[in-house]
Amino acid sequence: VLRLADVGEQAWIARLTRRLARSGRGDRRVLLGPGDDAAAVRPGGRPLLLTVDTLVEGVHFRRRWLSPAALGRRAFAVNASDVAAMGGRPAFALLALEAPGSLPAADLDAVAAGVDAAARRAGARLVGGNLSAGARLAITLALVGVVPGRLVTRAGARPGDRLWLTGTLGGAGLGVRRGRLAAVPLRIAAGVLLARVASAMIDVSDGLVQDLGHVCRASGVGAEIELARLPVAPAVRRALKAGAPRFAAAAGEDYELLAAVPPARERVLAPLRHRLGCRLTCVGRIVAGRPAVRVLDARGRAVRLPRGGFDHFARRA
Ligand SMILES: [Mg+2]
Repeated sequence: VLRLADVGEQAWIARLTRRLARSGRGDRRVLLGPGDDAAAVRPGGRPLLLTVDTLVEGVHFRRRWLSPAALGRRAFAVNASDVAAMGGRPAFALLALEAPGSLPAADLDAVAAGVDAAARRAGARLVGGNLSAGARLAITLALVGVVPGRLVTRAGARPGDRLWLTGTLGGAGLGVRRGRLAAVPLRIAAGVLLARVASAMIDVSDGLVQDLGHVCRASGVGAEIELARLPVAPAVRRALKAGAPRFAAAAGEDYELLAAVPPARERVLAPLRHRLGCRLTCVGRIVAGRPAVRVLDARGRAVRLPRGGFDHFARRA
């Protein structure tokens, strides 16, 4: 096996740079790709979105959970999800890798190829990055997005808005319980379309209830979720039966989009629905009151959920 220590930093970067130059040839938004001191881009006159995220071995993943290529795709997709949640399209990515010298060079090749493939599928380009020696594998991806239409934030939801969710919930959380990390969906087309009508939007990475709580605090409103309406992933229904909706409401890692839409804009939403590329379900509504999320059962009674979400620095009991 050819290890990173055999290949060396400069040679590995030179090889990746040549590959990226080939895969991105002809993209006129990129004045200079990887290879100089910095990338130079000319994205146009639209608002830019900037975001960054790190996947650390032993914290976010174990190597037996995901292939290196899937890790690369995931590093891109979790950032793309944040860009989509604001109505943007991914445009340019930077990849910073930390890896031990004992790592097979082919593994790092596959991580970078996974990022590049996911970026191109989303209409974006990997334009640069950095490689450093480290005790364990860590993948940091920074992403620049462009907003083609309306910029939507977490603030702006108003009482009476209904809450709409893409895709299904709980599937990724069930996978984590079973030692697997599910692929992160790319909801880019859906994000741009929902931004036309949404008063507020967020991606559901830490669990529906937790992430909706962020919308409530940013917007100064409350929210109600109806358990019976949740689009629970079929595998979760089979595995957890009657407990499935409660699990789906709190489980994280689904990376679906949650949008608040004012009633007056539902006319506009209706014809967009078949263009989203995924299902769209009304799961609840925004209400007046303190910024909190109430979860209701089929009879309208409030249900208590186990604390969901994930805090990197919370003390474990
Ligand atoms: Mg987010």
